Amino acid sequence: MTVLVAAIAIPAPIYRLFDYRVPAAAEGLLVPGMRVRVPFGRRRLVAVVAEPPREIETEGREYKFIEVVLDQASVFPADLWALCRWAADYYQYPLGEVLSAALPGPLRRGDDTEIRRENALHISESGRAALETLPARSHAQRAVLQQLATTPCTRGQLLELLPKAAASLRKAMEMGWLLEVPLVIPDGVIGPALAPTPEQVTVVEALRSAAKGFSASLLEGVTGSGKTEVYLCLAADAVTRGEQVLVLVPEIGLTPQLLARFNERFGAGVASFHSGMSENERADTWLRARAGEARIVIGTRSAVFVPFAKLGLIVIDEEHDASYKQQDSFRYSARDLAILRAQKLEIPVLLGSATPSLETLHNARSGRYRHLKLESRVRQTAPPKIHALDVRTRALDHGLSHPLLEAIDRHLTAGGQALLFINRRGFAPVLLCHDCGWSAPCARCDAHMTLHRGRGRLVCHHCGAQQKAPTTCPTCNSKTLTPVGQGTERVEEALRARFPDKRVERFDSDRLRRAGELERLLADIRSGEIHILVGTQILAKGHDFAGLTLVGIVSADQALYGTDFRAIERMGQMVTQVAGRAGRGAQQGEVILQTHEPEHPLLRTLVEGGYIALSDALLEERRMAGLPPFSHLALLRAEATQADAPLRFLNEARNLMLADRESVQVSDAIPATMEKRAGNTRAQLLLQSASRAVLQRKLSAWVGQFDSLPSARQVRWSLDVDPGDL
Ligand code: ADP
Ligand code: ZN
Ligand code: ZN
Repeated sequence: MTVLVAAIAIPAPIYRLFDYRVPAAAEGLLVPGMRVRVPFGRRRLVAVVAEPPREIETEGREYKFIEVVLDQASVFPADLWALCRWAADYYQYPLGEVLSAALPGPLRRGDDTEIRRENALHISESGRAALETLPARSHAQRAVLQQLATTPCTRGQLLELLPKAAASLRKAMEMGWLLEVPLVIPDGVIGPALAPTPEQVTVVEALRSAAKGFSASLLEGVTGSGKTEVYLCLAADAVTRGEQVLVLVPEIGLTPQLLARFNERFGAGVASFHSGMSENERADTWLRARAGEARIVIGTRSAVFVPFAKLGLIVIDEEHDASYKQQDSFRYSARDLAILRAQKLEIPVLLGSATPSLETLHNARSGRYRHLKLESRVRQTAPPKIHALDVRTRALDHGLSHPLLEAIDRHLTAGGQALLFINRRGFAPVLLCHDCGWSAPCARCDAHMTLHRGRGRLVCHHCGAQQKAPTTCPTCNSKTLTPVGQGTERVEEALRARFPDKRVERFDSDRLRRAGELERLLADIRSGEIHILVGTQILAKGHDFAGLTLVGIVSADQALYGTDFRAIERMGQMVTQVAGRAGRGAQQGEVILQTHEPEHPLLRTLVEGGYIALSDALLEERRMAGLPPFSHLALLRAEATQADAPLRFLNEARNLMLADRESVQVSDAIPATMEKRAGNTRAQLLLQSASRAVLQRKLSAWVGQFDSLPSARQVRWSLDVDPGDL
């Protein structure tokens, strides 16, 4: 008997498609990309048609029927569909899972694709009058009215720009200061551009003169050199041509200024897409972009899967940022997929960074990408020079040396602000018993628990385990428990004690839990009320602080001892980014980097030659070692509660691969750097090839076989193509 079936991509970690029978009513209607509801095991799942229906001979097999067809056409525009299929192949991940990751939650669960029409808020006549008369201290209230007087937008968009404005907005509605009218997306550009600097003119002209079609360009420019202004300029070109723009950023919450600047220029045509939004809001952006209504989408990693009616430009800001790579389940690189998407659509892609990744620099140097530079800052001061301060043998007060404390004093006295960077949360990374050597180990990880003294807790930063911080040693009852090393909390406390009449504020994910907290503190920095900022890399990202004149890096030495081949590249980026925060106003900045390794050749290269000199040295090292970008990697990981299962599984996988490996190097299976994490034992195996195509071919051949290996059922395994960390 022959039946009509369609291959369906199921959202489950299974490396194959499943055939379902096409109900008579859907014959001739089903196309790839449509969502259907199908029975799967004991569940009903929303899945996606992967291939056009075909007639097959049943050979006695029973096929289940598709139960519901949810769409009348593919929900994925052709280019997004092609991107997802490519990504599933390239990252060796089940197509059903990839498609499911590309859909916003409500659509993943089968909701319809109707766009919810939200009204726009406009300021009313009485609102305008109120804006004239409200006292200056009604700051939040005025901000709401001011924003809507300049660019009318929806409630959601407004709260995106002014996250703490919900109460003020309610009040403004009650007072009749606002009008609701249907949202009209401005056709083009609404705000004026800044008069470009000569350097910006050169860069923009070069980008405009690019031949039609695909081109990738690296825009290298220090922070403050005016890159964002270049993005705005090119985005305006695209919008004026009736095209849409995708702007990828590492983290929106950390760069509210970027969103505000796009909003000024494009008003309600800007939509955002990130994990801070509700699923419905995200679905809204997704659908509005697909319909061509959202002119500009600014989003984080997963925004690379937003569909567009007519995409004309992709911008990847801070292209080097590690957060573009997803670190679990579907381990894709949004940067790499965005470039591929531009290539398939034959449109330009622009990668911006002050500290480009080695991969991108390599592409630029080998001529695959155009390389454009903004060498000077818009506001005169040159980027600060980094001064490496040898702290060996010096007394350290909670990690801070005397010269650094003196420098802080000097800058504060001169009316400047100081930023202290330390890449570790909490009070101290280790709580040590001086009598017996107990060191607060995590029971589930090969790691120490970090002391969070403010909360009185020990927290494992790897598995999240928590307990009350003990006051006496749990093994010997001694009272001499000593915090060793320092985190942000400790540096904050030390500075408060040292500068009692100054305001010291901490910036890390513990402190900034509540929505709007960062914005409030950023405003206090700009108004000069905060004198000293202590923080993690949260402070390294796109903020513009005119009064900040000193940056102190408490330590970056850890990267020098790191085992990951990217550790020093990352350190160089972080140090350069955070150093770039100093002296953005009229005053020349100063940067002090404390180190116990002042003679380390790579640290010296960074300090004396800057990031680009460091990247030259690192690229040379990578070339010699045959590491990316001079080779291609994939990492096979396995973990299990049973301690010997991961290595056993990886050795089985290794034998399978060795039997048929072409020109792929297969490493030994080894324990992961942190072997035990969250109660699981972890191991890994590295695959390496000079040819991306060969590696891909072999991975595709192997990946389907791993689940049939004898030990496969005892482990969770995953394959990471182009891994970020080893
Ligand atoms: P980047 O993105 O490289 O950090 P920005 O585009 O944010 O640089 O520019 C840094 C600062 O200089 C911002 O405050 C911006 O408003 C300002 N700026 C940029 N371009 C110009 C210009 N052409 N004229 C005046 N100010 C500018
Ligand atoms: Zn003890
Ligand atoms: Zn742990």
